[in-house]
Amino acid sequence: MNYYVLAYYHFVQVDDPEKLVAAHHAFFEGRDVTCRIYISREGINGQFSAYVSDAEAYMNWLKEDERFKEIEFKVHHYHENVFPKICVKVREQLVAMDEPVDMSLTGEHLSSEKWKEMLQEKDEDTILIDVRNDYEWKVGHFEGAELPTLEQFREFPKYARDLKDKKDPDKTKVMMYCTGGIRCELYSALLKKVGFKNVFQLEGGVIKYGLKEGSDHWKGKLFVFDDRMAVPLSDSAETISQCHKCTTLSDIYYNCANVDCNELFTCCPDCADKFQGCCSVACQQSPRRRLYEKTARPKPFRKKHHYLS
Ligand SMILES: [Zn+2]
Ligand SMILES: [Zn+2]
Repeated sequence: MNYYVLAYYHFVQVDDPEKLVAAHHAFFEGRDVTCRIYISREGINGQFSAYVSDAEAYMNWLKEDERFKEIEFKVHHYHENVFPKICVKVREQLVAMDEPVDMSLTGEHLSSEKWKEMLQEKDEDTILIDVRNDYEWKVGHFEGAELPTLEQFREFPKYARDLKDKKDPDKTKVMMYCTGGIRCELYSALLKKVGFKNVFQLEGGVIKYGLKEGSDHWKGKLFVFDDRMAVPLSDSAETISQCHKCTTLSDIYYNCANVDCNELFTCCPDCADKFQGCCSVACQQSPRRRLYEKTARPKPFRKKHHYLS
């Protein structure tokens, strides 16, 4: 376990995103690093893996920058790098949601400990919302969570308005969580904007919760946007999702081998074999297919897969 996998984000004014991207590239020169880092005028959102000493050096380097001295890194240990390469890019928005929100009016941030307490005291006026995509919560989520069938984060504003028609925004306590916390920064602000008065968000997301509280109140595994795909929060993580084909329990993800489909789905190894890595018979008969390779832990196909966390 000589590698660190880091997840981090920080909202702060960045006047020169291109310059910060260039500084990252220069710093990574000659180091054993892979990453997917987005920098915008509103801050940084990073996922990163590196050999321990290089990871330590990076964390120190970033914190030396006055703008990022408060940044918090969530650290997992792993045996190898988890991204295909170094990718540091300027982005217009750190989280794509086609509706502006006031980021100074987010929900109340709850520590993992407070979150756990609130879960235990949850009454009928409290709703717990998983604000991730359906392919993410399928392999794991908090017990009793609402699991919206969103395929894209962009669909969240409509979901928020529909929710207001169903739940009293004055009385309802909304608890929301996502992978690392960044999506909740926007979504909690959006829920407040549509009128919900009591909005709470899990600070640092499920990654931090898992590091602090393990898998208490959590079912299954945590979907992550890197080669690991699904990570356990504790040693006793169960599999809760089914093979897309035969309903055997499986939390192994495949990208459909039909390059024009590329659908991300869970599948058991037998069915993956049988369908040659395709999500359907139609895809199996399509002309543009990647060669199927049998492997115990398939890695995500990178080209068209969307990494948005
Ligand atoms: Zn199967
Ligand atoms: Zn397909």
